[in-house]
Amino acid sequence: MLNVIDNKLFVEDVSFEYLAGVHGTPCYIYSKAALVNEFLDYQDAFKGYSKTTICYSVKANSNLSILKIFNSLGSGFDIVSEGELDRIIKIGADPKKVVFSGVAKSDSEIAKAIEFGICFFNVESFDELLAINRISEDLGTKARVSIRVNPDIDPKTHPYISTGLKTSKFGIAIEDSLDAYIEASKMNNIQVVGIDAHIGSQIFDLQPFEDSLARLENLFYKLRDMGINIQFIDIGGGLGIKYKDDDIPPTKADFASKIIKIMKNINCNLVLEPGRSLVGNAGYLITKVVYEKKSNKKNFLIVDAGMNDILRPSLYSAYHKISKSISSSKNKKVYDIVGPICETGDVLSYDVALNDIKLGENLVIHSAGAYGSVMSSNYNSRPKVPEVLVSGKTSYTIKKKETIDQLLQNEVIIDD
Ligand SMILES: *Cc1c(COP(=O)(O)O)cnc(C)c1O
Repeated sequence: MLNVIDNKLFVEDVSFEYLAGVHGTPCYIYSKAALVNEFLDYQDAFKGYSKTTICYSVKANSNLSILKIFNSLGSGFDIVSEGELDRIIKIGADPKKVVFSGVAKSDSEIAKAIEFGICFFNVESFDELLAINRISEDLGTKARVSIRVNPDIDPKTHPYISTGLKTSKFGIAIEDSLDAYIEASKMNNIQVVGIDAHIGSQIFDLQPFEDSLARLENLFYKLRDMGINIQFIDIGGGLGIKYKDDDIPPTKADFASKIIKIMKNINCNLVLEPGRSLVGNAGYLITKVVYEKKSNKKNFLIVDAGMNDILRPSLYSAYHKISKSISSSKNKKVYDIVGPICETGDVLSYDVALNDIKLGENLVIHSAGAYGSVMSSNYNSRPKVPEVLVSGKTSYTIKKKETIDQLLQNEVIIDD
């Protein structure tokens, strides 16, 4: 929800200048209207298939206020850890709309999720099936499971965010999954309810989603012939978003129509686990120019946000658009925008053309709502930055800036 008024960039009705002044820099900013609109867009796209549950993938952005907004709109949640489970318990999520993914669920995580009454576990290995069966027996109950199958589909995205290839650590190879289903259906404390796949992230081509779902459909019929009745098909997340000005991601409506077409044949419950496509473009990171430096080859703008605050550029060479918070039209120069961290890889963007830069002015890093603040670290002993939600004319702190005392509090100085 960006607006430009008198050359100043606004998120909803609040200028980035004002936000930087009040909340300091660096600082994550989210637009509530953008979050709500993205969710309503999904709901609208899937309204032709009433058995759909959207389970927001908490790991994309796990701020409690953001979870609460999605919860109020009727979202469920896809979680991957006890910490994420605690978050969604805290905001009053409906256990029946919660699914639990992840390759390394511990005994205590499994027990806690069973006790909370989640909809199902997305099981990623034979060992995990045994663990869930054992724990649910101890608890005197039956745990609902879906098996995450690895459909061996290339989503044509960055290798680090491709998760459904044969070589990936996720899921059970689709050709081995029948054995897993047979084993699971014999276990006394397991109830098999679903089939799950998640093939990757930032996917622009809809064909891999269709191919993956077609393989799940095939498996669904095979299981039905064996007397195993599947109630849920979970197609994971992964829909891509626009980062570059000329990116054209698929619309939620196009995505939905392709999925719904296949689901109408299968006719069971559908679970979606979108993360990035709900929050990515609702968030920004504001940063301040600290110094400008010229070497014989490059102009550098050194800013106060680094790879510890936003890791994606360093980790995946991901592109984030960066613009001035007050635009001007003179003296265009090309800069590498770099952070304060003592690593050569601490580059937020290469070769950015910006006009008339002054020290102390604010830059806006766009599309920072997903895998931004959640991936931040304390490297170089830098406290984590605050998060702010803008709604209309008002800005709310939804995460306070970490203090250095908090950063040191778990460390123990031993007697030497
Ligand atoms: C990360 C993840 C998602 C969300 O992916 P996006 O690309 O952000 O939509 C969904 N499901 C699982 C299992 C994941 O690991």
